Amino acid sequence: MLRALEAEEFLPLLREQAPQATAEQLCRVHPAGYVETILAIRPEPGDSVAIDGDTAMSQGSAEAALRAAGGAVHAVDAVIDGWARRAFAAVRPPGHHAERRTAMGFCLFSNAAIAARHAQARGLGRVAVADFDVHHGNGTQDVFYDDPSLFYASSHQFPCYPGTGAASERGAADNVVNVPLAPETGSKEFRAAWSDTLLPALDRFAPELVIVSAGFDAHKADPLAQLRLETADFAWITERLLQTAGRHSGGRMVSVLEGGYDLDALAASVAVHVRALLQA
Ligand SMILES: [Zn+2]
Repeated sequence: MLRALEAEEFLPLLREQAPQATAEQLCRVHPAGYVETILAIRPEPGDSVAIDGDTAMSQGSAEAALRAAGGAVHAVDAVIDGWARRAFAAVRPPGHHAERRTAMGFCLFSNAAIAARHAQARGLGRVAVADFDVHHGNGTQDVFYDDPSLFYASSHQFPCYPGTGAASERGAADNVVNVPLAPETGSKEFRAAWSDTLLPALDRFAPELVIVSAGFDAHKADPLAQLRLETADFAWITERLLQTAGRHSGGRMVSVLEGGYDLDALAASVAVHVRALLQA
């Protein structure tokens, strides 16, 4: 992914090192005790500690998780302070499965939710997360569910990990919209889900900032799930979300990397995503 972003067309990008998130930023979403527990897990080099069946931490994981959340926060600061209108946080570990008190699905801190809460701490009111990762973002939804100032919109494969994301999960104030897609679904159904349901719902919410949970594991080449998206679909959804941001958020958009496990498909998909962000 980083190699793909070294291409000449991406020279105009401003590149920033992701800072470590502060305890204050993390604790807007996670209890202090949970943050302390995660950050205390620092195995010896070469060792790892299993958090659950999918999620392990190595020596570098705690710092990587702090920088993943911190990168998302820094991207929010960039678009609020106005030295960028759009930002992409090329970070791992991903975040959208991490619930308030539970690390799961490779995720330690709920990066997109932490970014949303930071935007509100900086003075914004309504913040939306649009999540096109192939998996449902149970963690983001968990944080947002009872708060009408936050909006979560997701398309995802169903049935699939983590098992949440039925259309009947709508949030306490109709502030959650889920569109489950059957395995082997391709571009047509994906685009219809966003055009017919998710984008109109985002328009009705009128977010002051759009945060994208940008997972690229719905690509047909991805080994972890069975949706059949083409690389071009990620350009399409990025352009549509930029139009939403243009209508409601002054064009401000923060995109945070989630999944994507075929590395060639990930690199190609991130390239079209960032190209769309750059050209908007
Ligand atoms: Zn995923």
